[in-house]
Amino acid sequence: MTKRYDGLALLSGGLDSLLAIKVLQDQGLDILGLHFTTPFFGKPWLQDEWLSEYGIESINIDISKDYVRMMVDGPAHGFGKWLNPCVDCKIMMLRKAAALLDEHGAKFLVSGEVIGQRPMSQRRDALSTILNEAGVQDRLLRPLCAKSMKETVVEKEGLVDRERLLGFKGRSRKPQLELAEHYGFTKIPSPAGGCVLAESESSARFIRLMQAKALPTPADFRLSQTGRQCWAGPLWLAMGRKKADNNRLEKLVGDGDILLRTVGFPGPVAILRPTDDGHPSAEDVRDAAAFTASYSTKARRHFEETGEPVTVSAASGDHVEELRVIPSRVTPLGWAEPSPDEVKPWKDERKQAEEAQ
Ligand code: SF4
Repeated sequence: MTKRYDGLALLSGGLDSLLAIKVLQDQGLDILGLHFTTPFFGKPWLQDEWLSEYGIESINIDISKDYVRMMVDGPAHGFGKWLNPCVDCKIMMLRKAAALLDEHGAKFLVSGEVIGQRPMSQRRDALSTILNEAGVQDRLLRPLCAKSMKETVVEKEGLVDRERLLGFKGRSRKPQLELAEHYGFTKIPSPAGGCVLAESESSARFIRLMQAKALPTPADFRLSQTGRQCWAGPLWLAMGRKKADNNRLEKLVGDGDILLRTVGFPGPVAILRPTDDGHPSAEDVRDAAAFTASYSTKARRHFEETGEPVTVSAASGDHVEELRVIPSRVTPLGWAEPSPDEVKPWKDERKQAEEAQ
């Protein structure tokens, strides 16, 4: 029989989410952590550590498809500083968590938010929007700031002892660090769970992808975070910077991709992935191959010393072609990496388009 829990908690793996669960475990309540994963956040490989280090049970819930759809359609409550749609993100996770309550016999939801801690999703008005739109007004408990909030049903009914909850508010992290010490945490994770949508460089990569593909997939977003991202108009080239990127790229190859490898010299693996208007011609593949080979120091040196071109293999499915190219960082296509400076104009343009509708 499935184990039954008192409550289900959003567990990002950040310090606040772990502490929120500990505060309730202290009252003898059984809490199951829900760890949501998307191409933008999620560390499911830490689940064993959460259990052994902090005594927290959790399950992993992959919401990639719905999340990517929300990003592409545009989050109803807008983006934060970069491409983080925090209010819509929280609403989506709480809706999904609420739908799982009955299955786990749970009566309430838990989140580690602290009022006023972060600019976008933790303002009082944003917190109340999240509650209303997720339809969880009376079922969401925030143990770290509960005493600064209205009493919830589970507190009124006595399932949770309000007196043993906390009243943190504001931006100071000191109370959380003291609480972590109280619980004997030897590892202190960052406050939140780590989300690349709140980072400038990743945001620049994502907008390029959304400009190039009307319906990007979760796999596209994963590729756009791997290695060096180079664009030439609508043509997209993802290239490994280090061995781990190369290994990951080999696993990310999909239908229609062209996989480039410098032959006979160590160097990057690269993927040319088609986009809506970016279908590489034979000449484009040759250009990308020359550019990729230029990141192999030994291939470059070989050309400089001998004047001989180097070989790059271009594999598409079972078809493999060997191209002889001159390694070159400056090619006719002019590959370049996206810049965070592109993010704000993109967001402004998108906002104007939405307002004009
Ligand atoms: S920082 Fe990322 S994971 Fe956290 S609420 Fe915002 S969008 Fe969601």
